[in-house]
Amino acid sequence: MAEATPLKIGLIGLGKIAVDQHIPSIKGNPALELVAGCSPHARPEGVKAYPTFEAMIEAHPEIEAIAICTPPQIRHKIAAQVIATGRHVFLEKPPAATLGEAEAIRDLATSKGLTVLASWHSRFAPAVEATREWIAARKLKSVHIVWKENVRQWHPGQKWIFEAGGMGVFDPGINSLSILTRILPQKVIVKAADLHIPVNCQAPIQAELTMTDETGLDIRADYDFLQTGIQTWSIFIESEAGEKLTLSMGGTELEVDDKVLIKEKEAEYSGLYAHFERLIRAGKSDADFAPLRIVADAMLVGHHIDAPEYIE
Ligand code: NAP
Repeated sequence: MAEATPLKIGLIGLGKIAVDQHIPSIKGNPALELVAGCSPHARPEGVKAYPTFEAMIEAHPEIEAIAICTPPQIRHKIAAQVIATGRHVFLEKPPAATLGEAEAIRDLATSKGLTVLASWHSRFAPAVEATREWIAARKLKSVHIVWKENVRQWHPGQKWIFEAGGMGVFDPGINSLSILTRILPQKVIVKAADLHIPVNCQAPIQAELTMTDETGLDIRADYDFLQTGIQTWSIFIESEAGEKLTLSMGGTELEVDDKVLIKEKEAEYSGLYAHFERLIRAGKSDADFAPLRIVADAMLVGHHIDAPEYIE
């Protein structure tokens, strides 16, 4: 049987994540073809780049699917424009700035028979599914997320992150919530949050969340965007029987009772793109907004605490 022709992809937003992950992942997948990209200013090597979506589509009407890699605040407007032209859509995380916007994008794509992928790259980390299986066989006592990174190191020049809708420390923190909502069998409920917001910013730079589920599980999360030295992207889980599981390095390493079970290099975006391609070929969508709902709920119940001015 003849191989299917590669799916023709366009990118919107050619910043850090497009260059670090999307471009190499598309180029590394023979079932996909990177046709072009657009961004107001960025012109990365190896991509035919246009200043606007309209210019890209006019030059390349053959594009079948678009990955939107812009900051979240403008994602809804852009996604609506992409869907109106009949292209499938891959949304970088978070899928939009609000739940309402995310749902509107999903509904619009569905009404046009197009695929939408609300991508959560951390769910494709190598130790996440094994953690899910470990949890499924046990009764848990507690879950503690510790997600601490240096914003100056990982997000240089990204002013949008501390503007309204940029989510601040939840921009990386939502990755931990995408893992949490994948590995736990029950829905997560936010009970309380402390949100530390620099006096010159609109979004938190540190946050502590108290959560639970229908079984009363003790779930906590500590987020810090000012972490220097060792960076931590870990989830510590204890079972009622006293067993201890640690999922660390963003989901690439798994330890149970101090024994290393998985330690692998991440290949999250190649997994994500394979998933996107399969969804399109099957005429399906994957639009789970549970991680975004937790952030939204934390913002609803959160105590706002003034933090010192943030200067990059
Ligand atoms: P970034 O480096 O600031 O890049 C964003 C890009 O979007 C910029 O190149 C910018 O264009 C472009 N852009 C802005 N307005 C646009 C518009 N109207 N049309 C087309 N392009 C537009 O940010 P990033 O780190 O790549 O993050 C983008 C998204 O990916 C965020 O939602 C983030 O959470 C997610 N993400 C980031 C990472 C990471 O490690 N950085 C990891 C996973 C997911 P110009 O530069 O051309 O002006």
